[in-house]
Amino acid sequence: MTSKINLTIGWLYPDLMSTYGDRGNIIVLQKRCLWRGIDCKVRKILIEDDPRLVLESDLFMMGGAQDRQQQIVNRDLVGQKGEYLLKKLNDGIPGLFVCGAYQFLGKYYKAADGKIIKGLSFFDLHTVHRGENVDRCIGNISVQWKNHQLIGFENHGGRTYLADKSQFFAKVIKGYGNNGEDQTEGMIRKNAIGTYLHGPILPKNPEVADFLIEKALEMKYGKRFQSSQLEDKIELTAKKAMISRL
Ligand code: GLN
Repeated sequence: MTSKINLTIGWLYPDLMSTYGDRGNIIVLQKRCLWRGIDCKVRKILIEDDPRLVLESDLFMMGGAQDRQQQIVNRDLVGQKGEYLLKKLNDGIPGLFVCGAYQFLGKYYKAADGKIIKGLSFFDLHTVHRGENVDRCIGNISVQWKNHQLIGFENHGGRTYLADKSQFFAKVIKGYGNNGEDQTEGMIRKNAIGTYLHGPILPKNPEVADFLIEKALEMKYGKRFQSSQLEDKIELTAKKAMISRL
């Protein structure tokens, strides 16, 4: 008897790291799996939880936060959970890391109060917040990712600088992205995406959700998966409307 194809999503710190609808990303991943007959379990991973839950995840999602919550989470993440997370990401397990979570995967984040929050150094980048008197990067954003135009909403004080700019996730068409200077947005390494796109990103851009699901299945089952087409008329119409406004 063959067991049903299944995925476990590790949702990191949902109680502390989730802003501007980031939890919508989880709903989309779960639904798109379900609609294709893939069993999908979501496992919340909180500060008090056993770090081994990280090892049992096939796909990660972690949302954004204010500096204060980032500092609380960081104290936990620099321990065993971070070690396991790095191992999984280095092995090619996919993940979506939004805004504050994206900043964590870099070398460090200098917060608005000047405190340095050390990151996991999975991405070769650093982020600097120049203080509350400097304008935040806020607004609707549109970027080019492969042959897709993506939309989202960004709100961050930190400006991110990639050591190697060619490793960006997407190219900014309208908005700020990593720093408002070099037109780069986010970073991708192995199968992990770091991005400033809230919105949330996956309901607005189902093609990114399918990319993550395909990568998770490939890693788990050792063969290529091509997602079956779903009916995305509403999502794509909403995206078109937003692109024309931008
Ligand atoms: N606190 C971080 C910043 O302002 C991240 C914000 C966020 O995750 N929305 O840059």
